[in-house]
Amino acid sequence: MFRRGESIQVKSPDQLAVMRRAGLVVALTLQAVTAAVRPGVTTRELDSIARDCIKSNNATPSFLGYHGFPAVICTSVNEEVVHGIPGERVLADGDLVSIDCGAIVDGWHGDAAVSVPVGEVTAAVLALSAATEAAMWAGLEQVRAGNRLSDIGNAVEIAINAAGDYGVVEDYTGHGIGTSMHMHPPIPNHGKPGKGPLLKVGMAFAIEPMATLGSPTVGVLADGWTVVALDGGSAAHWEHTVAITESGPWVLTALDEIHL
Ligand code: MG
Ligand code: MG
Repeated sequence: MFRRGESIQVKSPDQLAVMRRAGLVVALTLQAVTAAVRPGVTTRELDSIARDCIKSNNATPSFLGYHGFPAVICTSVNEEVVHGIPGERVLADGDLVSIDCGAIVDGWHGDAAVSVPVGEVTAAVLALSAATEAAMWAGLEQVRAGNRLSDIGNAVEIAINAAGDYGVVEDYTGHGIGTSMHMHPPIPNHGKPGKGPLLKVGMAFAIEPMATLGSPTVGVLADGWTVVALDGGSAAHWEHTVAITESGPWVLTALDEIHL
């Protein structure tokens, strides 16, 4: 998993300040899209809100055209885990939709995702989403100079397992981020602590646990993008981009100034 020789990009404080600007655009966009989520809205309408928000903030979408991806956000509903393509689908009461967004400012990326209930959602699905979000925060807490990379995934896995009998998706991971959206290293959402590269000030990562109500086994739909839980159980996905500063983790994609 941790190949030698591939280095992790280290950013200067000035570069992290630009990444914070990109992260804030992502935060504002997710806020605007979340506010529009309701039964009856199409995922394409949500994509259009994101497109307008990113443009009006003088930023560029990270996802549009990425390996041919045709939209600004990913919208993944219910058993869809990640990478769902916005389109004609009408959100219905009881759905859980993961909205994933990336934006670029002056060449630097931010990447974050939220899972949003549509109308009245079952207690089990709400608990899954809450557990996944809590696991993301547990992972973010570990993004500190002096820790090892695998401390992040270990904390994520422990947090999800402590919350309930959930599936932890292992086929997709968090990632390094900076001058590209997806950079070295991959960051699994599980594993033993104390392994992998030493974390240093100036590194930045996207931490993004994905969990399911049933089996975490996933597959990709015929559209070539949409990742689904094969047993049809609901999935949740939460993500923040975080940087390592001298004083600890700085959550670059939070609406508020969050230093852990
Ligand atoms: Mg993302
Ligand atoms: Mg990501």
